[in-house]
Amino acid sequence: MSPHPSDTVFVLGGPILDSDRRGFVEDHMVVIADGRFVGIEPATLLPSDAARVIDVAGAHIMPGLIDSHTHLMSRSGVEADPRLITTSVVDAVIMAKRQIESGVTSLRDPGCKHHGIHQFRREIAEGRVIGPRAYTAGPNIVGSGAPVDWRNHFVDGADDVRRAVREEIKAGADLIKLVLSHSTADSDWETCLRYLNDEEIAVAVAEAHLLGRRVGCHCEGLPAARAAVDAGIDVIDHGLLLDEALVSQMADQGTFYVPTLWAFSTDTHLNVGKTIPPERAELYELKVAGPHRESVQRAMAAGVKIAAGTDPVHWIPARDAMVRELETLVAAGMAPIDALLAATEVSADAIGDRRLGSIRPGNYADLAVFEGDPLTDLRALARPRLVMKDGETLVDLRHDQAAADALWADIATGLPASDRQPELWGQRK
Ligand SMILES: [Zn+2]
Repeated sequence: MSPHPSDTVFVLGGPILDSDRRGFVEDHMVVIADGRFVGIEPATLLPSDAARVIDVAGAHIMPGLIDSHTHLMSRSGVEADPRLITTSVVDAVIMAKRQIESGVTSLRDPGCKHHGIHQFRREIAEGRVIGPRAYTAGPNIVGSGAPVDWRNHFVDGADDVRRAVREEIKAGADLIKLVLSHSTADSDWETCLRYLNDEEIAVAVAEAHLLGRRVGCHCEGLPAARAAVDAGIDVIDHGLLLDEALVSQMADQGTFYVPTLWAFSTDTHLNVGKTIPPERAELYELKVAGPHRESVQRAMAAGVKIAAGTDPVHWIPARDAMVRELETLVAAGMAPIDALLAATEVSADAIGDRRLGSIRPGNYADLAVFEGDPLTDLRALARPRLVMKDGETLVDLRHDQAAADALWADIATGLPASDRQPELWGQRK
């Protein structure tokens, strides 16, 4: 007699990523019941009368990937032209489906121009739209006068900040997003603009924590990042120029770091997002992309918890955006197993929902099954054969090579699936 109910699902036939062992285990199976993981069990325990068995035929089985920094509705110009609201929704529908087809089953969306993103999260949760489980922030909170061209909460002083945090949470925010600083290649990094003062940052973090929400921040340059870490912020997004003292403080405090390294690379700006003109590429590499990479290397060496985020602000990415971020992190020195955990378990921790990101008992049964061994070739992650969310199969390409080839055609190019409106980097006033 099987100890498992008859509707239990058994996924087997390939190595399984076991986060506790920091590696893949052979000859095991993933057991799923009622949309949750029962656990990883030896394959020899497969009940002889098991009705629901999914054989992945040698493919690698992982928890679903988590994108720690992506924007489903980042269409520019919505604030000025309401017709673009429709476009942003259509973008989001396309993008959410592509994420699932990329093996991404959860995401963190840190910042949208409007509160519609929270409703989109619900539409996904209710199954009306195919997409990852989303954790969403509404408009960013930023000091008045900041030269950021997005729709934001513009605030002045502690009371304003507190009100903005409360309003965002009332509107449905899972997390709070601050915009603390920006740079251009012409910036002096030591004095790059600060958009919130220390008191305002501290109030935002304290109020969000009081209301049970995490806080992330768009942050470029050391002074703003230091102030945010001093205030106990949960996540530094981008960061860009963190020094030895700060990365060691982040490691001590357990501050998460989502560097979005690929999105900030010169090649991405030049060839994918087309957000810098060719004549600015050298300066960008020298002043931004190169120092950012070194900063991420310092964070790796210090043991900072680094989560993987793609940040495709200006385009709908090709299906290998997450692979590109992981390849960029590994090229910068991250061990491949740490890259896999950055896109699963560490991202789950950065979001703050431990029911994600690992095949542990009770967790959401989100799985992605890949052809090839991602530890020796991260590109394998661009080819999900099977994607499951809440125990439900959303993608199954195991027996349809023509459909798989058609779906994966875009990953050969890496080019975006569609353009949005590029905002040229370096032209901020
Ligand atoms: Zn972003």
